[in-house]
Amino acid sequence: MKCADVVKYLSDYLDGNLSDELVAEARAHVATCKNCHVVLDSTQRTILLYRERGRTAGLPPKRHAALYAQLEAAMVGRSDDDCEK
Ligand SMILES: [Zn+2]
Repeated sequence: MKCADVVKYLSDYLDGNLSDELVAEARAHVATCKNCHVVLDSTQRTILLYRERGRTAGLPPKRHAALYAQLEAAMVGRSDDDCEK
């Protein structure tokens, strides 16, 4: 799995909709990729923050979309060289 794949599956991963196999692959990648680790960590913190504020449904759709657009923008143009392990 590459960084682009992690971003692609991130939404489903965080929502718990990803298959066990893909979750395992994503975790294996994140464990070895500092870039994705930071992205995943900050994303989870953002979502937790919203949940702690009582928005149990998670991020508002607009914020949700903006967050993932931001993540994709952060990944675009990055080299996957660091992740080819
Ligand atoms: Zn990565």
